[in-house]
Amino acid sequence: MSAWERSSTARVIAPARPRKLAKVPFVELADGRMQGVVSSGSDIGRVYVSSIAASTYAYGCSTNNNRPCGGARGWYCNHIRALIGEAVLQYGAERVARYLKVDLADAEPSGDSLIDAMFATRPGADHSGAAATVFSRFLRHLAYLELAPTTAPLPEMQWFPPTRAVA
Ligand SMILES: [Zn+2]
Repeated sequence: MSAWERSSTARVIAPARPRKLAKVPFVELADGRMQGVVSSGSDIGRVYVSSIAASTYAYGCSTNNNRPCGGARGWYCNHIRALIGEAVLQYGAERVARYLKVDLADAEPSGDSLIDAMFATRPGADHSGAAATVFSRFLRHLAYLELAPTTAPLPEMQWFPPTRAVA
C-alpha cells in the first residue's frame, strides 16, 4: 500500500481502557514511534513531546519549544514513562509491544515490563527531531475537537475517498 492509501484508511481504535487526558493529552503509535504530548508536572503552560522509536527504543523528550528535557539524559524520564503508561491504557500492552517490536519473553505484558525490556537494550537518545512533527499532529488533533459534532463530511477530509480505492 502507498503512504497515501495507508493514511486515508486509518481507523480510529477505541481505547483498551478509559484514559484521563490531563497528564497525557495525546499518544499515538505512528511513524514508527510511540509518541505523544505529556503535561509538565509543575508548569501548566508547558508540555513535553516524548517518543520512543520502534526496534531501537531510542528515546526523545523535549518541550514544545524544543528545549531538551533535563530528565531524559541516559534514562527514560518521567514524561516518557507516563507516555508508556498511557499508551498501554490506550492500545493495550500487547499491541504496544508488537508495534515497538519489544520481546517480552515470559514477562506479563505491562508498562513496567515494557520499560524493563526496552531499557535492558541500553537505548540511545533519538536525535531525529520528531518533536515538531509530533506537536503539530497534536495541535491538528485538538483542532478537530473544536468542531461542533456532526455526521456531515469535513470539507478538508474530502481529499480522501471512502475506504474503497477509487479508480
Ligand atoms: Zn522528559
